[in-house]
Amino acid sequence: MTRRGAVASEDSQWYFAALAAGRLELPRCAACGHWARPTSASLCAECGSDAMTPMASAGNGHIVCTIVDHRAVEGERVLGLVELDEGPWIATQILSDSDRGRPAQGMAVELRIMAFDNGEPVPAFAVARHN
Ligand SMILES: [Zn+2]
Repeated sequence: MTRRGAVASEDSQWYFAALAAGRLELPRCAACGHWARPTSASLCAECGSDAMTPMASAGNGHIVCTIVDHRAVEGERVLGLVELDEGPWIATQILSDSDRGRPAQGMAVELRIMAFDNGEPVPAFAVARHN
């Protein structure tokens, strides 16, 4: 089975181009500094400004919740919500290295950019070393 990601459109080209270059970029309001999710509208939810500009996230956050997908092609796969240090929440895959423990609520995570079968980059997170 082939895993497919989102289809890049003209509006999301900047997001996928940044991932391909190794960065997770999110819209950030130039007027008030509010960060938004990648798929959010073009107006700032905090102040209504239209000055939303892609900025690189530091790629650090913590796990809000997890579920385990036991039917994944590659075996057990952990999915979850990650709250980035910048504020936005992202639904994502959470990677577990055996020496870092099983992903759990509250654990610190760091960005890992993976690729779908077609080569399309996708953000995932791994349990951070400093847990
Ligand atoms: Zn704003």
